[in-house]
Amino acid sequence: MSEQDSLLTQLDRYWQCFDCGRIIDDKNLAKALKTAGMGWGLNIPCPECGGKTSKSKFPGAKFRPLFEMMVECSQLERAILVLILAQTAFESMLDSFLYRLLDNMNCPGGISLAITDEVRGIIAKARFVKSLTGKDIKKMIRDVGFRDILEQFETIRKKRNSFLHTAEQKEYLIQDDITMALKFACATVDLYAALFSKYREQRPLIEP
Ligand SMILES: [Zn+2]
Repeated sequence: MSEQDSLLTQLDRYWQCFDCGRIIDDKNLAKALKTAGMGWGLNIPCPECGGKTSKSKFPGAKFRPLFEMMVECSQLERAILVLILAQTAFESMLDSFLYRLLDNMNCPGGISLAITDEVRGIIAKARFVKSLTGKDIKKMIRDVGFRDILEQFETIRKKRNSFLHTAEQKEYLIQDDITMALKFACATVDLYAALFSKYREQRPLIEP
């Protein structure tokens, strides 16, 4: 399967269970939910917790255009756009992870959004995760089995910046960079599925 197809497959792989909060990779569940149409999966039991409340695709619908655009830009061989979109997807999924941590603390949605908007840059976001959970995001990422992904993120960031500084050298980015960025995007989806599943405890700071 090409990297482009692999990335599109990722968009229909995972479902989020609103009972247990896990992100589920289960072909039978995916099939049952697809057959049920867009009824939000009510009454279809979660294979992990048995819960029958609604389920939603993971990553959520708002991410779909971003990943689809990545595939389109790779078909057009616009390497720089593929890199920028891959970086954006990683950062936006980190935002949604932050948002979920806050949500699990009963933080009102508007405030969570304001915070995730205002805490800019991956380093500031990592610090914020640490202040909320007491955990180092690098270690959290390693613990779910993604040893090299932050290095890949850094490579993409550097290549993007070099391109912007030396854009007149048209051959700077090559097909391999597109392939690398698409693989990184596939791994990004798997990484956040694992992080969402592992760090899902409800720890209200604010009484409802
Ligand atoms: Zn569940």
